[in-house]
Amino acid sequence: MTDTAVADAAKPPFPEQQQQVPGKTAQMAPVPDHGEESYRGHGRLHGKAAIITGGDSGIGRAVAIAFAREGADVLVSYLCEDEDAAETRKWVEKAGQKCALAAGDISDPEHCREVVKTAVSEFGKVDILVNNAAHQMSFENLEDIPDEEWQQTFATNIHAMFYLAKAALPHMGEGGSIINTASINSDKPNPSLLPYATTKGAIQNFTAGLAQLLADKKVRVNCVAPGPVWTPLIPATMPKDTVAEFGKDYPIGRPAQPAELAPPYVMLASDEASYISGATVAVTGGKPMI
Ligand code: NAD
Repeated sequence: MTDTAVADAAKPPFPEQQQQVPGKTAQMAPVPDHGEESYRGHGRLHGKAAIITGGDSGIGRAVAIAFAREGADVLVSYLCEDEDAAETRKWVEKAGQKCALAAGDISDPEHCREVVKTAVSEFGKVDILVNNAAHQMSFENLEDIPDEEWQQTFATNIHAMFYLAKAALPHMGEGGSIINTASINSDKPNPSLLPYATTKGAIQNFTAGLAQLLADKKVRVNCVAPGPVWTPLIPATMPKDTVAEFGKDYPIGRPAQPAELAPPYVMLASDEASYISGATVAVTGGKPMI
């Protein structure tokens, strides 16, 4: 298949489908493309060590595959999707790199510190921290959102970024890179994703502030803001009719494949991005983020 054919394989309308949170890659129709057959590395992350939260599936898996093919060892943090994590590990090891797995809930600060400890004991350092995991759920009315849901969304999506960054910093040398996954929702909140969209606004602000705070340590901090991407998060958290038409209302007319998100993460992680910090890279299929 050509690259265009791979991208077009994720074009709405999608078959009717719904999953339980947190979603499984193998149950998706069509199964997403993470660059397994297409991503070619050029040694741009040679010798580096990375932590990727949510690295088992979706965007995180595509980033793990790309990082490994660019020469980085990878720790994959994930909630509980062991099958998906094993699949990501298979691809990282196939690229000739080390892969550590860390299952558990990053809304727990102690677990965040454990994730960093594991990476340091496996790789001896942390060069790249990709804060990519997130929780979302759809609600039509404010009164339908339980307090616990609000708190869980913040604990997973933004508080964990703070705990992970704080724990990783002492192990990051000059040239370190922190990359946070924001969203089109950082700028254009979808009202049916109120808790999630609010955290995505916070993530963009956190990125901009932390970039300034860490500049003198020569650690760069940026975020990638995806538009719609065909990942397990979608059938696990959105209504069936939204899933069927997912991405249709974007100028390109379809969601991204996870593989189409990997290049900005590689660029921001690499030394080539030495003057890029505090930035938001929008990957939004033609919908402007200004
Ligand atoms: P995904 O379902 O593949 O990944 C979500 C990941 O988050 C999973 O790997 C899961 O294990 C992890 N996770 C969730 N709760 C966790 C917890 N409490 N502890 C540890 N890990 C937890 O979906 P994805 O779309 O690839 O999501 C990756 C990032 O992309 C998220 O930050 C998401 O907000 C963002 N994003 C996705 C889209 C989209 O359309 N898919 C759009 C904009 C932004």
